[in-house]
Amino acid sequence: MSTSIHEITCQSILNRSRIPGLDYTLNPYIGCLHGCVYCYACFMTRFAKHPAPWGQFCEAKVNAPEILQKQIGKLPPGLVSLSTVTDPYQHPEKQYAITRQLLDILFSTEFTVSILTRSDLVLRDLDILKQFLPDHIEVGFSLALMDDSIRKVFEPRAPSIQKRIDALKQIHDKGIRTWVFLAPVMPTLTTKYLLELLKAIQNKVDYILVDTLNIKGGSQVGLKQAVHAVDPNLVKEWEQIFSSSKSKHEYYMPVFKQISDWGNQSQIEVKFCR
Ligand code: SF4
Repeated sequence: MSTSIHEITCQSILNRSRIPGLDYTLNPYIGCLHGCVYCYACFMTRFAKHPAPWGQFCEAKVNAPEILQKQIGKLPPGLVSLSTVTDPYQHPEKQYAITRQLLDILFSTEFTVSILTRSDLVLRDLDILKQFLPDHIEVGFSLALMDDSIRKVFEPRAPSIQKRIDALKQIHDKGIRTWVFLAPVMPTLTTKYLLELLKAIQNKVDYILVDTLNIKGGSQVGLKQAVHAVDPNLVKEWEQIFSSSKSKHEYYMPVFKQISDWGNQSQIEVKFCR
């Protein structure tokens, strides 16, 4: 599958967030080459200047560091999410290092940064991450699967699960606050491996944030195809679970209880998306 990378400029990079608990969003790229089939950010396609489908293009905001430098003194400090509608460490970051430059500006400010990625490329920036005050930085990895052959279907161009878990450990061992976004929790595909996944991240995280699978318009067809590709028998099960909010709730209640119990036993804080 072909992918394209373009350079663009932006007028604003540190933007006010509408997400509860987050003050700002910082998205160095438009689009994301990881191409996850359940990506919630596919609505961003309408802001792209290129016609490629979501997951197959990336626009690098090459002037982002210069714009951040201008904005930083004018805005009150707060919690910055890096990032909400792109992955700040997708592979063009190797070449552009925009995320690295943004962190290099932020570490000496009053702003607090919460990184969320699916890539071990974040390890490259450990030298900068260590310069933040301990309560001004945290690094999170998205993890929903344990079987890498299934990961290749649902997150085709994201780094392997093992690479993420190894990176999580390395960062946690450096004394940097770490977290896992356990999402989307997918019927069978996540739940069958849930205990294995929780065991793999134990002793490597300060907290986890959990979310259900939210099937939205743009990702519906791709999701159905991906589930069918992994196991055609699951299609019916998913249709039943997601046929109403009641059946979805009934399915997720015991799963979330299992995760809460693990949190209590492991003394790891478990948060759930509202
Ligand atoms: S890594 Fe995040 S932003 Fe990128 S495609 Fe996957 S879900 Fe979307």
